[in-house]
Amino acid sequence: MSYGLIMADVRRGLFDERNLDLVGFCNVLNIDPWLILPKGAYNVREAYFKRIIQVEMGEEEFINPLNAVITVKKVIEKFGDPFALIFSASSSGMEIAPYVAGYLKSPIITDVSGYQKESGTLLKSLYSDKVFASLKIKGEGFFVITVRSGSFRHEAREIEENTIYEKLEGLTRDERRRFLGYIEEEKQEVDITKADFLLSIGRGVGTKDEIPLYEELASLLGATISGSRPVIDKKWLPKSRQVGTSGKTVKPKVYLAMGISGAFQHVSGMKDSECIIAVNKDPEAPIFQYAHYGIIADMHKIRDRLIQILREK
Ligand SMILES: Cc1cc2nc3c(=O)[nH]c(=O)nc-3n(C[C@H](O)[C@H](O)[C@H](O)COP(=O)(O)OP(=O)(O)OC[C@H]3O[C@@H](n4cnc5c(N)ncnc54)[C@H](O)[C@@H]3O)c2cc1C
Repeated sequence: MSYGLIMADVRRGLFDERNLDLVGFCNVLNIDPWLILPKGAYNVREAYFKRIIQVEMGEEEFINPLNAVITVKKVIEKFGDPFALIFSASSSGMEIAPYVAGYLKSPIITDVSGYQKESGTLLKSLYSDKVFASLKIKGEGFFVITVRSGSFRHEAREIEENTIYEKLEGLTRDERRRFLGYIEEEKQEVDITKADFLLSIGRGVGTKDEIPLYEELASLLGATISGSRPVIDKKWLPKSRQVGTSGKTVKPKVYLAMGISGAFQHVSGMKDSECIIAVNKDPEAPIFQYAHYGIIADMHKIRDRLIQILREK
C-alpha cells in the first residue's frame, strides 16, 4: 500500500492534536500514515502510525523549511515516493509546505477540508467558504497538501499492526535560515474565551476615535470587548482580544458582532456562540448567514441609541 508522509506538527516539545487530521486524511485516501518527527520526547499517538521516522534534528531545526526539504528528500531516497506529503494548515505547516513543494517541484493544494470519494477529488475552500473548489491532482509523482484543522480527525483510526520505528541520520543542515526564538504573546489582561457576552467590533468601526464609545457600550451591557483581525492589526485593541483562526476561539452566550463582514477566518472563531447578533450596513454581509438576529444599520447609530437607553436606566 502506498504511504502518506506526514510532517509532524510540533511546537515546544508538544505533539499537536492536528496531526490526527493528517492521519484521518490518510485513512480516507486508504494510504498508510507515516510520520516524520524531530528528536525529543513527544507525546506521539503512536498507534495511529504505520511507521514513525525520527529525524536526527531538534525541533528548531526541523521546523526550518530548508531543513524540511533536506529531510523529505532523504526519506524519499530511502523509501521511494509517497502518495502525498501532508502538513497541517497551521502557521508552521503553511510556512513549510510551499517551500518543500517548490524545491521538489511538486503540485500543492492548501487548506484541504474534504474529500469526495466518488470523484476522487479534494475540497478546498475559496472566498471565505462561499464556494468550495473540487480539485484533482493529475500526472506522475506525489503532491503536497495542507489539511485544515478539524476536517478529518473523526476519520483517524489506530492501525492494526505494530508501528515500525526508523531513525534518519546523517542529514546536512541548511544554515541560510535559522530559528532565533519564539516571541511570547503579550500578557493577557482579559481572557475573552471565558466571557459570557462579547461585543466584537470590526473594520466597520472606521477610526480609532470611535473605540472609547464601544468600550462604554460594552461596559453598560456588561460585555467584554473583542474584535476582528483588522482592528487588532491597527492596534486599536490588544492582540489578546482577537477572535478567529489566528486569534481566539470563543463560545459566549451572546456574541454581538458590529461592523464585521463574516470572513471564515473570523467566523470559525465564533460560530458556536449560543446567540449571535450581527449589526452591518450591508444586507449581503456573510455574517448574517451565521447570525440568529441581524440588524441592517449603521453600527454607530445602533451604538449611540443603545448607550442612550442604557445610560437612562
Ligand atoms: C491566515 C489568515 C488568518 C486570519 N485570521 C483572522 C482572525 O483570526 N480573525 C479575523 O477576524 N480575521 C482573520 N483574518 C482576516 C479575515 O480574512 C478578514 O479579512 C477579516 O476577518 C475581516 O475583518 P472585518 O470583518 O472586520 O473587516 P471587513 O471584511 O472589511 O468588513 C467590514 C464590515 O463592516 C461593515 N461596515 C462598514 N461600515 C459600517 C457601519 N458604519 N455600520 C455597519 N457596518 C459597517 C461592512 O459592510 C463590512 O461588512 C485572517 C486572514 C488570514 C489570511
